[in-house]
Formats: sequence, C-alpha cells, structure tokens
Amino acid sequence: NRRVILKGHVTGFPSEDGMEIVSGMAHLAVPPGSAVLVLKNLYLSCDPYMRGLMTKHERPSSYAPDFIPGEVLVGYGVSKVVASGHPDFKFGDLVWGRTGWEEFTLIPNPESLFKINHTEIPLSYYTGVLGMSGLTAYIGLYDVAKAKKGDFVFVSAASGAVGQIVGQLAKLTGCYVVGSAGSDEKVNLLKTKFGFDDSFNYKKEQDLNSALQRYFPEGIDIYFDNVGGAMLEAVLLNMRVHGRITMCGMISQYNLEKHEGTRNLMNLISKRIRMEGFVVFDYFSEYHKFELEMAGYLMDGKIDYVEDITEGLDKAPAALIGLFTGCNVGKKLITLARE
Ligand code: NDP
Repeated sequence: NRRVILKGHVTGFPSEDGMEIVSGMAHLAVPPGSAVLVLKNLYLSCDPYMRGLMTKHERPSSYAPDFIPGEVLVGYGVSKVVASGHPDFKFGDLVWGRTGWEEFTLIPNPESLFKINHTEIPLSYYTGVLGMSGLTAYIGLYDVAKAKKGDFVFVSAASGAVGQIVGQLAKLTGCYVVGSAGSDEKVNLLKTKFGFDDSFNYKKEQDLNSALQRYFPEGIDIYFDNVGGAMLEAVLLNMRVHGRITMCGMISQYNLEKHEGTRNLMNLISKRIRMEGFVVFDYFSEYHKFELEMAGYLMDGKIDYVEDITEGLDKAPAALIGLFTGCNVGKKLITLARE
C-alpha cells in the first residue's frame, strides 16, 4: 500500500521534500465482527487547507486534525469500497469523504462518508464541484453572503475549485460578477467558459484599489475572499454600504510565518459591512440538498467545470504544493485509479 507521508512539520513555503512516498504492508482486512470499511482510493483532492495541518501548532487546528510527522496525509477523495463489515456499505459502493493519501485506506467509522448517487456524472467531480469545494461555494455565497439578484459580486482566486463555482452560482442568481486570477489564461477562462461579466489578472495591476474602482464604479456588495492580504485591503476600500464579505480563505497568508495585519477595517463600521468567516465542515448536513441542486445544474449545462488532473501518487506532493504558486488551472486533483 503506497502512501504519502509528512516527513516533519513545515514552516514557511512547503516543499515536495517535506513529503515522501513510502510502501507499507497492507493491514487491510476487516476484523470479524467490526464495522470497518476498506477503501480503494480512486481520486484525491488537493486543498489549500492541508497546508495549515502541516504546521506545528500550540493548540490543534479547530477544523481538522493536524497531520502527524511520519504518518499518512488525510484529505478528501473518491473511493470504492473493497471490503465492508458495515451493514450500510457493500463491496463496489462508490463513496466520497475523508480518506488517506494512499492506495487503500481502512476506515473505522464510515459515518462521515457520502455515497455517490449520480454515476452519470464523472466520478472525479466528487472531489470538487459535487464535493467539498462546491459545497463551500454554495454555503459561502448563499448562507454567509446572502447573495441576491442585482448584487455586485467580486471573487478572488476565481478560476480555482471554489471560485469558478461561486462566480457561476452568482450569475445564475442574477448578480453582476467580476473575478480576479493570476494568469491571462485563467482570466480568459472566467469570461469565456464560466460566464463572468468581467475579470482581471491581479498580478498585472500596479494598484489593486484603482483596479477595483475600474471594475466596480458603484462599489462591491459581496466579496467572496479566497486570498486575504493585499486584495482584501483594497476590497475594504471599495465596498458598498451594507456589503457582505465572506471570509472563505486567505491563501496569501498560509505560508507566512507571521500573518499580515489588516489596516482598512474602519470601513466595516462606516459602511455597516458584515464580514464573516465559515468552515464548510460545519455544513455537511446541507450536502444532500446541495448535491441535488448542483447535479441538476451540471446535467442541464448551467454550470461548467474545469479540472486540473495529475496522474499518480508519485506526483501528489508536487500537485499539492503547486496550489500555492497558482500552477493549477481549475480544481486540482490526483488520479490513483479509475475503478
Ligand atoms: P484553488 O483551486 O483556488 O487553488 C488555489 C489558488 O489560489 C491558486 O491557483 C492561485 O490562483 C491562488 N493563490 C495561490 N497563492 C496565492 C497568493 N499568495 N495570493 C493570491 N492568490 C494565491 O483552491 P480552492 O478553490 O480549493 O480554495 C480557494 C480558497 O478557499 C483557499 O483559500 C482555501 O483555503 C479556501 N477554502 C475554504 C474552505 C472553508 O471551509 N472556509 C473550504 C475550501 C476552501 P491564482 O493563479 O488565481 O493566483
């Protein structure tokens, strides 16, 4: 059973050398009388939050167990049940949920796994648009930002796994949507594939404040923040009265040993802005409602989706790290097997 382990805690920018592929004996039989499952992992999701779990914390992370040096990474993935002692799961069932970055994983408690219902949709989509990333976009836009028709919406990291879905859902809601991304290829994708009203390459802008003034002459109602840092500072200067800022992620800060401060918070008061963080893991009870809606959009061609696929466990560490230099165009995932 080949697996990706974390070699040691990480400070600063992560590197491929901080992870290692090891082969281990597979102790993957279901003990008699237990409710354990054995999963064959098909697709693994690369997610920016995994970086945070590599840091040595004085207090554990509040949203997922920290990674332990010497042990396998854990993330979200799509898997096939190859042995089951649990009455609700049988050989051949397809599931998505938390699993190891390895070929086979033993799951002592399958309560957190979701069965995959729509096999007419590509299975890999359950690592993204029909999995954690899609639910994040949906909750962040509707439950947190309360998006409604006519809102002016700005999304950062807009071509990524979460951003591309946020923008398209906002368009379906009747919003005016602009996205920022870090390459011309991504910026084009936003307009040509995902139907954003406009988009810009933030790396080519001298001054983010004047860029936002240009794209939002009347100001921003909703900022879906995936990046934090300088972009958030500029957005705070461009929000409208009663605006909402969904704090989804701050990827610009994840590899800094000391996070940057935020200077423009006064705008929250003068413009009566609500700025709210959320963690998608608190919303899995909404998954089935979301899945039904999103599967419908996908099958009706109302939502488009772009994946960036890496083949094989050997390349998994590089794929994960590539998120932090913007190597991925769309949802980054790793294929281990197709069935
Ligand atoms: P993406 O697919 O968007 O990949 C990450 C992207 O972030 C890169 O492609 C790059 O795009 C951009 N990026 C990388 N480094 C920087 C930087 N220093 N400054 C600005 N942008 C950078 O990832 P996801 O869609 O999976 O995640 C997006 C955000 O959502 C992340 O912050 C993540 O942590 C957060 N998240 C939060 C959840 C929650 O529950 N709150 C759940 C899931 C995700 P570009 O080339 O455009 O710069």
